[in-house]
Amino acid sequence: MKCSKCEKKAVFGSPNLCKGHFISYFESKVKDTIKKFELIKKGDKVLVATSGGKDSTTVLYILNKFYKVSALAIDEGIGGYRDKTLEDIKRFCKSEKIPLKIISFKTEFNYSLDEMMKKLNQNSCTVCGAFRRYLLNKYAAKFDKLVTGHNLDDETQAITMNLFRGNISLSAKLGPKTGVREDKKLTTRIKPLYFCSEKEVMTYSLLKKFDVSFNECPYISNSYRAEVRNCLNEFEKENKGTKIKIANSFLKYLPSLRDYFKGESFGYCKRCGEASKKDICSSCTLLVELKK
Ligand code: SF4
Ligand code: ZN
Repeated sequence: MKCSKCEKKAVFGSPNLCKGHFISYFESKVKDTIKKFELIKKGDKVLVATSGGKDSTTVLYILNKFYKVSALAIDEGIGGYRDKTLEDIKRFCKSEKIPLKIISFKTEFNYSLDEMMKKLNQNSCTVCGAFRRYLLNKYAAKFDKLVTGHNLDDETQAITMNLFRGNISLSAKLGPKTGVREDKKLTTRIKPLYFCSEKEVMTYSLLKKFDVSFNECPYISNSYRAEVRNCLNEFEKENKGTKIKIANSFLKYLPSLRDYFKGESFGYCKRCGEASKKDICSSCTLLVELKK
């Protein structure tokens, strides 16, 4: 197959593009998303939440070309998985001269995720998500923007999951720039890879030869997300463009959705002071549970 823009061999199908044209197509898509949704303003202090995986490494690499960025990695304590990805991110940040801070569940909460899962009878991703959110909010407070590596697949999975579970209010927090309301305790989260599919990010990271592992977290197979992901992938295979259609139609209704849920009560956790809808936030509830 030939590139649709030149005579070279295509490395990517639909659109058919050679290495050079794919790289410019991908980077332009990211830049256009930043511009269209006003994700980053001049002078913004930008923190990239990174896991050492292909998505966060890709977004970190592209943003570092145009902005002054710092990286933050969270070590949840997932044996045989996170240790390897942390080594990858340390190496990457060193070679790209990006300041990196690593914080761990074990140091912050006294338990690694593996240890928590032995004590708690809860879904691993719910526990992991609650503590990650807490740490991200805490460490991003001094920054103007918190960047995540969420791609089109992640976003459409979240939209579909919220719909299937009857949790549409949670979708009001989605979109390329998150937040139903502004709050001094919540740094705006942005997703520059919003319109890039998993396959595109994978291709970009392979072409750029990023030294990242493509292993999945051992807990993912238990998750509801994995089921939704497989279902959406099947749909995409049979009906090309399903994912982008979900994202585009969702974005049309997102402003109304946000307006609708704007009035929901929202305060601060009485225990730790972080922004929370409930009196006690979910990470504090879990910490109390862990101490029993
Ligand atoms: Fe955490 Fe679940 Fe993601 Fe693993 S798959 S890192 S447990 S949220
Ligand atoms: Zn709390």
